[in-house]
Amino acid sequence: MLACLLARAAQQYTALRIEEGGLCTQRNYSLSSAPGLDHLRITVKRVPASKQGAPAGQVSEYIHDTVAAGHTLQVAVPCGDFFLDDAQLEDDLPLVLLSGGVGITPIGT
Ligand SMILES: Cc1cc2nc3c(=O)[nH]c(=O)nc-3n(C[C@H](O)[C@H](O)[C@H](O)COP(=O)(O)OP(=O)(O)OC[C@H]3O[C@@H](n4cnc5c(N)ncnc54)[C@H](O)[C@@H]3O)c2cc1C
Repeated sequence: MLACLLARAAQQYTALRIEEGGLCTQRNYSLSSAPGLDHLRITVKRVPASKQGAPAGQVSEYIHDTVAAGHTLQVAVPCGDFFLDDAQLEDDLPLVLLSGGVGITPIGT
């Protein structure tokens, strides 16, 4: 089962569900692990409170402040339509990928 998940994880995202610390909500995060690894990785940008009074991001703050090695989290099966199809790659041609913000995460995988 895990091998199947890892094989299809590149460029996909997962839904992370938090039901602790007073939260009961979920957010999507792109998987940032390279293909071929034996684990999945996400990269979460902290969303701080703004000077204009907007509150800090609930889930990103929680992850940064509370989640550490050994913590158990609920994640959904990776999914998404954005992926590089090997069949579309031509051997000698360079590949140019452009992205911005957190869009860099799936590009990196
Ligand atoms: C497909 C997909 C992939 C993603 N991949 C990544 C990824 O790889 N890495 C990553 O870091 N993020 C990623 N995201 C974004 C992520 O899902 C979250 O949206 C992000 O972490 C913020 O969630 P949060 O709970 O911390 O913020 P939230 O609590 O949802 O807050 C979001 C914003 O709303 C503002 N806000 C909240 N309440 C108020 C209010 N009452 N008044 C004014 N402003 C308010 C907050 O200040 C904040 O700026 C992805 C999203 C999608 C859809």
